[in-house]
Amino acid sequence: MEVDMNNLHAPRTIEYTTDGCAVPGCISNTDLVEDENISLFQPSIENVNEWSSSLNLNLTVNSYVCDRHFRPEHLLYPEVFVNGSMKVIKCRLNSALPIAMDAEE
Ligand SMILES: [Zn+2]
Repeated sequence: MEVDMNNLHAPRTIEYTTDGCAVPGCISNTDLVEDENISLFQPSIENVNEWSSSLNLNLTVNSYVCDRHFRPEHLLYPEVFVNGSMKVIKCRLNSALPIAMDAEE
């Protein structure tokens, strides 16, 4: 798979967090399943306002939004060389916009 790495934002991957995702009530913050691989994405200075209005939150470039708030088609799983071995990493498209979800689940 050909991936333009300049158009991707590599996530910071976390195992457990108590205050990771900026979205109130996000189950990633309270009910993380063991071994579940949640990635947190940070908005860039260019899209922080867009993310804020989409989620109806006041985000900053230091805020984290977990991958639950992105559509699956906005996430990519390229294989990259990390420390000499191929690893699959989770990325989001630079244009990906997080979406507010109903309190389902
Ligand atoms: Zn979240």
